[in-house]
Amino acid sequence: MYESLVNFVDYCNCITIVASRVNELRERRTLDDEGIRELLESDDESLAEELFRHAREVAVGQFGPVVWLRALIEWSNVCRNDCYYCGIRRSNRALPRYSLTRDEILSCCDQAWRLGLRTFVLQGGENPPAAEKLAETVAEMRASWPEAAISLSLGELPGETYALLRRSGANRYLLRHETAKPALYARLHPAGMRLENRLACLHHLRALGFKTGMGMMVGSPYQTTDDLIADIRLMEEFRPEMIGLGPFIPQHDTPFRDIPAGSASTTLRLYAILRLMLPQAWIPATTALATLRPDGRTAGILAGANVIMPNFTPASRRSAYALYEGKARPGAEAAETLNQLKQELDTIGYHV
Ligand code: SAM
Repeated sequence: MYESLVNFVDYCNCITIVASRVNELRERRTLDDEGIRELLESDDESLAEELFRHAREVAVGQFGPVVWLRALIEWSNVCRNDCYYCGIRRSNRALPRYSLTRDEILSCCDQAWRLGLRTFVLQGGENPPAAEKLAETVAEMRASWPEAAISLSLGELPGETYALLRRSGANRYLLRHETAKPALYARLHPAGMRLENRLACLHHLRALGFKTGMGMMVGSPYQTTDDLIADIRLMEEFRPEMIGLGPFIPQHDTPFRDIPAGSASTTLRLYAILRLMLPQAWIPATTALATLRPDGRTAGILAGANVIMPNFTPASRRSAYALYEGKARPGAEAAETLNQLKQELDTIGYHV
């Protein structure tokens, strides 16, 4: 009897300490490593709910109960890299390779614009010569939709190609850093790919005037809580305008095919922690999260995310942009089901 009372008091103390961490993070917009570890690792789901509540209050305070839609156009799956986790890696011979034509890209943009989306996101494998050519299409997009935001996610490119794309009218660039730890970076990528190059690209992009996004997968192989804390510190210092993060999900044609997927709960906690640290950031509730958990989009928004990226890639190409298992499954992220997405958001009190 006495022992269970002591355990209960310990439990209450622990909850009080972690709850005060959430308040401290919200007020000071930072928290020490131990505090972040507790928020990430606590197995008390009611505490996670408390963290999410604070994060969404901050998001709604900044933006209102609004979710921003970005039209995702998966431009090409041709990639020179061989990242061990990624289904479109160069060594995957099972994948039919494609690149959308200029006409296809403009038609995707047109469809998205007519449906009310005002940001186009061109994402694709890393392919510097093709990225340079893509600048012509970016210039056409800029001329046709002067008020649109044009966001790119094309990997590491030469500085002059970034400058050309910027001059052509692109104004945002997402390049996930993938991990802030060089040793972990080396376990996720083949020799020749280096974290310092990636970080140099991010600084260069920002100097060119791009609004810049970074981020990582959650639960990628070998990743520890210390690694996630290092990621948080890196973003706290760099202060990206956008943060792209979602769970790792294995893909059957990659070396990491047998590694279990990352945790949806940890992903949501990271959205919330980063919202409290960087209240103005654009944080998408990612497709990877929605792949892992059917209510991933709304759960993400309720944890402080504020962006959803419906997929406007032509349906015939989607299965070939197979970053991870289950990604091509038709769902509410597809343009055809935009209304369903709006209804889902309506049920949680948000609108686009
Ligand atoms: N080539 C560009 C780049 O490197 O930034 C953009 C395309 S890349 C496929 C986009 C992102 O997909 C990567 O930054 C990575 O975090 C994510 N990704 C790749 N494989 C994944 C997997 N198996 N599970 C979850 N996310 C994955």
